Amino acid sequence: MAVTGCQSTGKKKKKKEDEGAAVGTTGPTRPSDGRPWNDAGSLQLPRSVGTKPSYSSVSINRPYVALTFDDGPHATNTPRLLDILRSRNVKATFYVVGTNVKRYPHILKRMIAEGHEIGNHTVTHGNLTKMSPDQIRQELRTSHEAITAATGVPPKTMRPPYGAITASQKSWIRQEFGYPSILWNVDPEDWKKPGSSVVASRLVNGARPGGILLVHDIHSASIDAMPQTIDQLLAKGFQFVTVTQLIAMDGQQ
Ligand SMILES: [Zn+2]
Repeated sequence: MAVTGCQSTGKKKKKKEDEGAAVGTTGPTRPSDGRPWNDAGSLQLPRSVGTKPSYSSVSINRPYVALTFDDGPHATNTPRLLDILRSRNVKATFYVVGTNVKRYPHILKRMIAEGHEIGNHTVTHGNLTKMSPDQIRQELRTSHEAITAATGVPPKTMRPPYGAITASQKSWIRQEFGYPSILWNVDPEDWKKPGSSVVASRLVNGARPGGILLVHDIHSASIDAMPQTIDQLLAKGFQFVTVTQLIAMDGQQ
C-alpha cells in the first residue's frame, strides 16, 4: 500500500514551517506600479529559535537581513515607522522596553497584527553584566509577561541592553527562558544623531547576507532614514525577514 507518500508530504510541510521557508498566501499583494516591495514579507514565522546561545548574524549566502528596532515603542515615531514598513511589505523585529510596553500597548498590538516580531529588551534597560542572576530573571520575566499580556504573543528572543552580556548569562538565559541573545553586526550608531543620510548609508554599506541591523525607533532621524535604507537595500537585492526567520535559515546555503 502506498501510504508512505502521504506521510512524507505531511512531514515536508511541517519541516518547511520550522525552517521559516513556507510562503504564506494571505499577505498583501505586490503593487503593480513597480514600487519597492519586500517579497520575503509574506514568509511565515518559524516555530523554532535555533540552538545557539546567541546570534549577531547568521551564516547564509542568500541575501536576507533582519532589521531590528530597539528601545521603543515611541508614541509618534513608531507608528510612522510602521507605515513605512507596511508600504514596502517589510517585517521587522522590535526590542521593546518594559516601561514603553505599558504605555503603548496598542502600538505593540499593531506590530503583531502587521506581521512583525517583538523581542524582550528588559524592563529598566540596565547593564546585565552588573546585575545578579535574580535581578536579570526578574527583568526578563516581567518584560516577557508584559509583552504577552499586551499582544497575546510571547517573545522568543531577547536583546541585552547595550549588547552587554557574558557568555554564562547567554547560556543560562537560553536554558531558562528559551531565548537566544540577539546582538547585531551592523550598527550605524544612530543614537549619536549623525543625521538620517549617514544612518542610511552606514546601514546600506554594512549589510551582508545573514546580517542583523540595529536601529533605534525612538529617534526621529532614524525613522527618516528608513525609506532610503530599505529601498536601496531592496534595489541591491536584499530581502527583509524577522530575527527568528533569519535564525531558522542559519547554516543553509
Ligand atoms: Zn536598548
